[in-house]
Order: sequence, then C-alpha cells, then structure tokens
Amino acid sequence: FLPTIYAITPTYRRAVQKAELTRLSNTFRLVPSFHWIVVEDSNARTELVSRFLARSGLQYTHLYVPTPRRYKRPGMPRATEQRNAALGWLRTHRSPKDSGVVFFADDDNTYSVELFDEMRTTQRVSVWPVGLVGGRRYERPLVDKGRVVGWYTGWKANRPFPIDMAGFAVNLQVVLRSPRALFKRLGSKPGMQESDFLKQITRVDELEPRAANCTQVLVWHTRTEKVNLGNERWKDSVQIEV
Ligand code: UDP
Ligand code: MN
Repeated sequence: FLPTIYAITPTYRRAVQKAELTRLSNTFRLVPSFHWIVVEDSNARTELVSRFLARSGLQYTHLYVPTPRRYKRPGMPRATEQRNAALGWLRTHRSPKDSGVVFFADDDNTYSVELFDEMRTTQRVSVWPVGLVGGRRYERPLVDKGRVVGWYTGWKANRPFPIDMAGFAVNLQVVLRSPRALFKRLGSKPGMQESDFLKQITRVDELEPRAANCTQVLVWHTRTEKVNLGNERWKDSVQIEV
C-alpha cells in the first residue's frame, strides 16, 4: 500500500505549454499511486488542457484561477494563487484517513522517476538537492548524522529555507493540520515563497533528508527557451493544436 503522491502543477497558456505538459505526463505515468493537480492560470479551464488531461490516462484534478494582472510583473513570485488553490482543494477533498505526500511540480522542470520513490516516505517535510538552480550546478541541504545542518546555495543564503520549490515535499496530513499555511503574496519578497510557506509548517531541525543524504540530484530546474515564432507572418492556413 503506497501513500498517494499529489503533484501540484501551475501552468499557463504559451507556445510551449503542451510540450511541457507532455514531457511531465510521460514521467508521471511511470509513477504508481499518483494524482496530478493541474491548476491553470486562466479565467476558465482551457480546451487544450482539458483534452490533454482527459487523454493522459493519469488520475487528475483540473482547477483554474487567474493571477491578478497587477501581479504579472517581473520580480513578482509566480503561481502563488494557483498553488494555494490546489492546497485549498486538498483541504476540502481529503481527510485525516487519506495518506499522501504533496509536491510542487512546476511544468518546466525535469523529474527523475526515482524522485517519487524518495518523497513517498515523507513523514512531515522531506528535502533533497535540485540541479541547475540558483546560478550554479546544484543547490542542496547539508546533512550531518541524518539531520539538515545547513545549506549549499548560490543565492540569498540567509533565507530561513534556502531551497527551490522542487526541493521538498510535505506529508498530506501536515497540509491538512495547518489549514492556514499558504503561499504569500503580500509581504513576500522574490525568492521567499518557499521560506514563507515552509516556516508555517516545519523547522529546519525536523526536515527529513532524501536522495542519499542529499548527495544525489533527481530533479532539475530546467527552463525552456522562448520559441521563435518569427516566421509566423501569416496565420497558419490550417489551425491545428500545437
Ligand atoms: N506560471 C503560471 N503563470 C505565470 C507564470 C508561470 O502559472 O504567469 C507557472 C509555470 O507554468 C510554472 C510555475 O508557474 O509551473 C513557475 O513558473 P516559471 O517556471 O516561469 O518560474 P521559474 O522557473 O522562473 O521560477
Ligand atoms: Mn521554471
């Protein structure tokens, strides 16, 4: 019997969206006992994402919430409303008898299937390295005798939890027991999303290191190049979904 992994993916319409979702779903299909919570940054569920999920073969929940226009600016944290909508869904649709692990899976990262084996046993909050992030090859928690004792990070090392969104998972019951733990808009500074959230639910000394005491990279903070549509001078004569 395996606790369900709830992967929360905020996503928004752009040229590469379906390609990103395809890459993700092909990984997630290899993960047993998996539930994908996809939250569109939009005013409604789009046809593209609805059809995509229906054909994916995955167990999923399809939500949407638009980011207010004033927050769509450089330097503003992304996908705050979408992650919070997913947390709200879990709090209303799951109960103390459900066992699960919650993970924030952005749509452009690269996930190893083994990562999900590692996070499956999360009791409270587990952590691991993330590759290609923070202006260096990797960031990771530093572990001594099974405890997190510090951080190897290239950026804003004095954050309470200097870790990327892809670097931790939370037991479902921790999410349910802390009903007010959410991602912050007001007062949140760039790069503080993870810290603002984690300090509401845990302490550094109780983090559970995974991935061989945080010595293996099983997830990469890849970013997809913006596509060149420079030759799109005329509208496609035949409209097909891309
Ligand atoms: N995202 C979103 N709306 C936006 C921008 C981003 O829902 O206006 C989603 C995006 O699809 C991804 C997550 O938020 O799942 C993080 O965005 P991005 O990968 O651009 O951030 P970065 O990698 O720069 O931290
Ligand atoms: Mn990204």
